[in-house]
Amino acid sequence: MEFSSKLLQNAVNEMAQLPGVGKRTALRLVLHLLKRPKNQTEEFAKAITQFRENIKLCKNCHNISDVDLCEICSNHKRQTEIICVVEDIRDVMAIENTSQFLGHYHVLGGKISPMEGIGPHQLTIESLVDKVKAGKVEEIIFALSSTMEGDTTNFYIYRKLKDFPIRMSAIARGISVGGELEYADEITLGRSIINRVPFEQSIKNTH
Ligand SMILES: [Zn+2]
Repeated sequence: MEFSSKLLQNAVNEMAQLPGVGKRTALRLVLHLLKRPKNQTEEFAKAITQFRENIKLCKNCHNISDVDLCEICSNHKRQTEIICVVEDIRDVMAIENTSQFLGHYHVLGGKISPMEGIGPHQLTIESLVDKVKAGKVEEIIFALSSTMEGDTTNFYIYRKLKDFPIRMSAIARGISVGGELEYADEITLGRSIINRVPFEQSIKNTH
């Protein structure tokens, strides 16, 4: 793509670094910004910069938060002894939308994936083990997507925790295999949390 303007080229190149945005889409978006009032572009840039500068990870559940302890962790009505293990904030949002879960979350920040070079130590697994060691956890619910990476991650955590006196369960797989939680409809996802099964049983079903 040949540009007559260096400024335009820079803007397009930056925009095109976003996932799913090719050069042509980037050009369309940048030209769109040019048509809008200047202050709208400033607001847009400010929102992104402030998000990046000020966003925190909750010190308890590692979810994305504006404050040190997220709204869910600081809500005294939530059950601290039940922890739902998820990959990222999209899963938290999907499960919260069902209104069927009143416990806490533990956000791993990804899944174990040798292909992508993600090992257990890059995730927040140790912090989950510490919570269980502290003796205040009664149940862990695995709610990772049922991909190979999800299964590997579940099993890794299960082995780390199996000697502690806690229940471990997995959300019932009414959700289509390989379907990500964020795409499941609320009723199906809500039911799969209520009808969760003991973890050992869930691995027998899938293997
Ligand atoms: Zn939190």
